[in-house]
Amino acid sequence: MKIAGIAAALGLAAATALTGTAPLSAQAPAGSEAPGELKLWRLNCGEMHGLPLDIFSDTLDFAGETGKLVVSCYLIKHGESYMLWDTGLGTELIGTPPEEQGGQLVEMSIADQLAELGLSPADVDLVGISHWHGDHVGQAADFPSAKLLIGAEDLATIRDPGDNPMVESQRFAPWLDPASNAEGVVGDKDVFGDGSVVMLDMPGHTHGHHALLVRLPGKAPLLLSGDEFHFQGQMEVNGVPTFNADRADTLASHDRFRRVAENLGATIIIQHEPGDVGKLPAFPEAAE
Ligand SMILES: [Zn+2]
Repeated sequence: MKIAGIAAALGLAAATALTGTAPLSAQAPAGSEAPGELKLWRLNCGEMHGLPLDIFSDTLDFAGETGKLVVSCYLIKHGESYMLWDTGLGTELIGTPPEEQGGQLVEMSIADQLAELGLSPADVDLVGISHWHGDHVGQAADFPSAKLLIGAEDLATIRDPGDNPMVESQRFAPWLDPASNAEGVVGDKDVFGDGSVVMLDMPGHTHGHHALLVRLPGKAPLLLSGDEFHFQGQMEVNGVPTFNADRADTLASHDRFRRVAENLGATIIIQHEPGDVGKLPAFPEAAE
């Protein structure tokens, strides 16, 4: 049986047609298809001080402990396109000390950081969001001309939050209209079609949660966590946060995350882990 026949027998062709996603390839982008330029910057999108760490494991690994987490966003340049990955805490926090706002701190907006690179919000073509939680969506609406990419379940939650007070739909004002420039991602999403930037379906933290694989030409692949894990110690105990949407899905995604990283020899970057900030060049330097 030919490959296509096998795929059809397994329903793969139908699945691809339905979701518009291709199977994740273990191969790096082919040279002839590689973008002219691929770079990644880590942006400072806030800090969270004095967090009760016990919420990050429902098996009581961190009872009574508190800690500080960072809030990271990333800018990716793919050829002539720019993509943001996550948009951090909101800029209304700028200028107020963390003890006056529940431990949250924002020192500089994403837009002001982009200005240091000579870019304006209008230069951002894509805003990719790992999930709908408030520390990942705070500045999304500052990029209204961009296309939004977020898990389909999370997009549905944003557009119809019901009585969930945690959902900040106004942060997505440019994309609340179903006719707006937004894509609810189902499964994995090869963002540029060349395997260089791939949203990986990792449900559990929220139902539409995704991590991001970035394959820069000059180094090992990068695996940006979203909130698959929040800090190194939590990853070591395979902790499931008490506030996750689905425990079984979380454990399955924890497993997928680890195995993808292992099989690709990827560098894991836990977005909230202070110790992982130094795995990338300090802004305004880029990894490439
Ligand atoms: Zn988070």
